[in-house]
Amino acid sequence: MKVLIRNGKVCFENAIAAADLLVENGKVAALGPFNDAIRSARIIDAKGLFVLPGFIDIHTHLDDQIGRFYLADTYQTGTQVAVQNGVTTIYTFITQGRHERLPEAIANAKAKARGHCYCDYMWHLTPTVFDEDGYHEIEKAIQSGFRSIKLYTTYKKAGIFSDYKQIEEVVKKLAPRDAQFLVHCEDEDVLNRVDAGRLDLSQPFTHSLMRPKEAEIKAIAEVLKIATKYQARVHIVHVSTPEGVELVQRARREAPVTCETAPHYLWLNNSWLQKPDGHRWLCTPPLRSEPDQQQLRAQAGQGAIDLFATDHCAFKKADKDDWHSDIRDVPSGIAGIGALPHLAYALLRPHASNALIELAQRIATAPAKAFRIYPQKGTIKVGSDADLSIVDIHGQARPIQSSLAGSYETYPGQSRTLDFKYVLVHGEVVVSNNQLLEGSLPGGACLCRN
Ligand SMILES: [Zn+2]
Repeated sequence: MKVLIRNGKVCFENAIAAADLLVENGKVAALGPFNDAIRSARIIDAKGLFVLPGFIDIHTHLDDQIGRFYLADTYQTGTQVAVQNGVTTIYTFITQGRHERLPEAIANAKAKARGHCYCDYMWHLTPTVFDEDGYHEIEKAIQSGFRSIKLYTTYKKAGIFSDYKQIEEVVKKLAPRDAQFLVHCEDEDVLNRVDAGRLDLSQPFTHSLMRPKEAEIKAIAEVLKIATKYQARVHIVHVSTPEGVELVQRARREAPVTCETAPHYLWLNNSWLQKPDGHRWLCTPPLRSEPDQQQLRAQAGQGAIDLFATDHCAFKKADKDDWHSDIRDVPSGIAGIGALPHLAYALLRPHASNALIELAQRIATAPAKAFRIYPQKGTIKVGSDADLSIVDIHGQARPIQSSLAGSYETYPGQSRTLDFKYVLVHGEVVVSNNQLLEGSLPGGACLCRN
């Protein structure tokens, strides 16, 4: 199947230029102008529109159980809201259960996702067994393409906590085996020093007092020391503090470290937790103060943060609301996939003369490079996957929709800034006018090797 996208303004990595794109066999086959019609090619006229590389959300949670709650989004609804907003690759997580071998956990996740994803997908692994057999299983998983390992400096009760000594051991052993690492940074000791008994647990705002920013800053500093010592590829997830970003910026000079922040730290702050339904905005790390939010926005606008990713973790409204007097009973997480491109573009617009190039950098090129799927993904080049969005930046303002799973909206009052006229995954049009094309099948593929 051939598609010829004509007359568009194509967003390359360093410039936007008029070009025609020929798509063949799911790849970008050639860049033109093509003056003559190409036989058997479907023509898409992109006059007045921008052609962007498919976006990548490297941090989402789908179709998983967290504590006693099941997430609102399945692979199908999560990837549908993704493609309807130009996100054509998502990463989610496989967490090894208490009595589960790693290959089993991988097989279960693959079975759940296969045939249900509208875009390409991949997982980061959270192994929880680090004995000899455990390492053997992790190494085999790395060989089959699961090269990113997620570690947590907190969540002891959930069984996924690692202390710094263990993180160092994992990095030392697996970095030479081609692994890279994502780390959730909140120092467990700092969190434990907060005396929850003295706080008013009936108030959602208390969640932000229970998880102070010092915990994040301390853990990021410790983890960056390990990354630098072993020259390991370490990515700090959902950085919520300006101090954390500064630490990564400094460490980047000496080690291959990267970081992300999520739209909720840029667009919301802990005043949301003081609203009557504030518990719905409970997430971890918590929303920070307004001055912290403003500083983080400035850093994001100036390019100090490598990439944006949502940490999409949508719960049903009924599950969020099912608590009475103790906010520790509220599931922690909020939705974001459908909001990411719109909010990121709105944030970058005032900072950059070519905000679309910056946008593609933050949510396509940088994530593809950080997780080593570049240039297959994250750019428009001959030979790259034809995951493309054809976008009108002057479309009608419509409300943002972060999730399709019937949960409440994370960003009420915010509008979409991009109108997705077409979205192509592997050269197939799957979205037209912001909606899944009728009859579209979930044809996304796993980026693992088998
Ligand atoms: Zn997460």
